[in-house]
Amino acid sequence: MKVLIWFRNDLRLHDHVPLHKALKGGAEVIPVYCFDPRQFGQTAFGFPKTGSFRAQFLIESVADLRRSLQQRGSNLIIRTGLPEAVLPALAAEVQADAIAWHAEVTTEETAVEAAIATQIKATGQRVQTDWGATLYHPDDLPFAVAQLPKVFTQFRKQVEHDSTVRAALPTPPQLPPVPTSLDPGAIPTLASLGLAAAAPDQRAVLAFVGGETAGLARLQDYVWEADCLKGYKQTRNGLLGANYSSKFSPWLALGCLSPRQIYQSVQQYETARVRNDSTYWLIFELLWRDYFRWVCQKHGDRVFYPSGLRGLDIAWKQDWPRFDAWCQGQTGYPLVDANMRELAATGFMSNRGRQNVASFLTKNLGIDWRMGAEWFESLLIDYDVCSNWGNWNYTAGVGNDARGFRYFNIPKQSKDYDPEGAYAKHWLPELQALPPKKVHAPWLLQPVEQKRFGVQLGVDYPRPVVDLPKSVAANEQIYNAARSRHA
Ligand SMILES: Cc1cc2nc3c(=O)[nH]c(=O)nc-3n(C[C@H](O)[C@H](O)[C@H](O)COP(=O)(O)OP(=O)(O)OC[C@H]3O[C@@H](n4cnc5c(N)ncnc54)[C@H](O)[C@@H]3O)c2cc1C
Repeated sequence: MKVLIWFRNDLRLHDHVPLHKALKGGAEVIPVYCFDPRQFGQTAFGFPKTGSFRAQFLIESVADLRRSLQQRGSNLIIRTGLPEAVLPALAAEVQADAIAWHAEVTTEETAVEAAIATQIKATGQRVQTDWGATLYHPDDLPFAVAQLPKVFTQFRKQVEHDSTVRAALPTPPQLPPVPTSLDPGAIPTLASLGLAAAAPDQRAVLAFVGGETAGLARLQDYVWEADCLKGYKQTRNGLLGANYSSKFSPWLALGCLSPRQIYQSVQQYETARVRNDSTYWLIFELLWRDYFRWVCQKHGDRVFYPSGLRGLDIAWKQDWPRFDAWCQGQTGYPLVDANMRELAATGFMSNRGRQNVASFLTKNLGIDWRMGAEWFESLLIDYDVCSNWGNWNYTAGVGNDARGFRYFNIPKQSKDYDPEGAYAKHWLPELQALPPKKVHAPWLLQPVEQKRFGVQLGVDYPRPVVDLPKSVAANEQIYNAARSRHA
């Protein structure tokens, strides 16, 4: 028995269902990864679909997987091309009996799966798909995905009450060799993918390195060495530094870390050290991740429509000058600008930051939320189709449990989460000399203060692109008009 294991967003050896099953059945396994050129094209609004940060993280993750497989006697076969062409051809070349992979849920990914399956089945070979993306297994949910509760809290309560997390599968100590006649293939470089190298920025929260090895090391460090789990609930809304939150997301997004492995570590920590609100809260957040995956599966393409899951026909603007100001961190609102510059410089942004900038884009600027979602898709090293588009639906007010027009009050958020202005100053050097009270309202600086602090408004730092209360009121009207049309 020969099985081609198609690695996708599951770049790990621990808790890998298709690999585990094939090895258990005594199969000869041939691991393969395929770089799909479509993933390196452009988004609908013209951004690189996979930008440099994310591509770099992917390349590192694939390289790490290859090293781990080689250390265990196997290898990772690498190809570039359309998986629906490459994989059936490879299966024929090695005379595989089956192809196995972890299933995805969104359109582009499932279309590729279907195309491969059709061809493979036509040749009499088998297709074996498994599930490995979430903490809970869909078969263990107390409802069918089609009956997924509309509201997260309802989902969470039912799952916590009725479902159990399956144990993470062990890493195979040894694997059979791949045929020596098979060309292992080369890992593409950023340049060959048409991307420029992204220079590392010393101000980044963490020097993220792709791959299972680095992901497991981060898990070990955050939970055990730095001992941060016990205070996660209190620190998770932070903006500065490596340890205010877990930073597991980039490794989760590419499957370098399995959520069940994290769950297992949390359980061990709870037994060995402490069990409290914080240890629970990390799992609570992983449930949001699960939820968005099933939201996308249940609602299909609607998550990508401008009207979102809710079908709300809001008159979004495609105001490019203002959108560019948002992308470049030049809106005149330091909390928004600092976060957007962090994203542009590092490919990462905190959850608090994401909520604020997404609210500002949609509730203050009234700009098409899909432009923001695509900008995130291009830049975020933790880009996950379901988490990104699902969260954008909710922040734009078009998610299926939208509770009316909700927005983030930027001055209040700045005061609550960056009271000293340390985060704003970290990313906005032009505001360095301002005293804490003035950092988040530079537009109030009198000419004499501008001189004293060396920041000339409109020159060194922009004046606000919109008036906050007026813009919120105008966008609320637009939103409510859409709701009454929808009612
Ligand atoms: C507009 C917007 C876009 C987002 N896009 C993405 C994305 O593309 N990929 C992504 O992984 N997360 C996304 N998030 C969710 C969240 O911001 C990140 O998961 C989190 O900031 C990652 O940092 P962390 O690993 O330190 O999180 P922690 O606070 O340590 O949380 C632990 C894990 O829980 C999960 N999680 C936490 N919050 C959420 C959430 N709101 N939704 C889904 N999962 C969550 C993540 O897997 C995260 O790694 C988005 C949020 C918003 C508001």
